[in-house]
Amino acid sequence: MRLTYPFDLPTLPYSFESMHPCISDWTLKTHYECNHAGYVKKLNLILNTLPNLHKTALASLVLSSKGKLFNNAAQHLNHVFWWYTLKPPTILSVPDQPLLTQIQMDFGSFDNWKKDFHEKAMSIFGSGWCWTIWDKNAKKLKNETTSNATVPNFYKGRQPILVCDIWEHAYFCDYKTDRSTYVDNFFKLINWDMVSLRIKGEDKLFDLSV
Ligand code: FE
Repeated sequence: MRLTYPFDLPTLPYSFESMHPCISDWTLKTHYECNHAGYVKKLNLILNTLPNLHKTALASLVLSSKGKLFNNAAQHLNHVFWWYTLKPPTILSVPDQPLLTQIQMDFGSFDNWKKDFHEKAMSIFGSGWCWTIWDKNAKKLKNETTSNATVPNFYKGRQPILVCDIWEHAYFCDYKTDRSTYVDNFFKLINWDMVSLRIKGEDKLFDLSV
């Protein structure tokens, strides 16, 4: 997947059917091929006329833009991060020991982390994203929300490590208005191996240069 113009969709490391019963194949396919692909298409169309930005990294574009360019660049970044946060529910994945200890230190227990994340996800008014952020300077994990396309502060030592898409296109056809059950099922889909790599700084998606 390219991190500069022309942008493209990432290859998903799982099939559309593999998130069943937590996310249907229809929802996953539509989300990827229509919603996410639409953001990528619009982003490239906008950048076609802005050659001075063709070598700018995606994360840097997000930080330096506004309006339609920001919305489509940020939604591309958010969705790539979301797809790689996930793994099929049939694959067992749990936080490894250093990460689990950090979660227990910052939230009291793994269940408390889930409770706090769930509460924050439920508090989003309209569309948005619910994140866990690793603050390298404070050496602390924190759950945060953002609205619409907005990304969390990801510079000055703050590393997003996982995200849940709280736009209705991510869950309405499967759960209708039951966002609560959708978020509960999201916990079964987290790829904790990827989360651990992100804490170690091995995911380059949020890097400002490529
Ligand atoms: Fe989405």
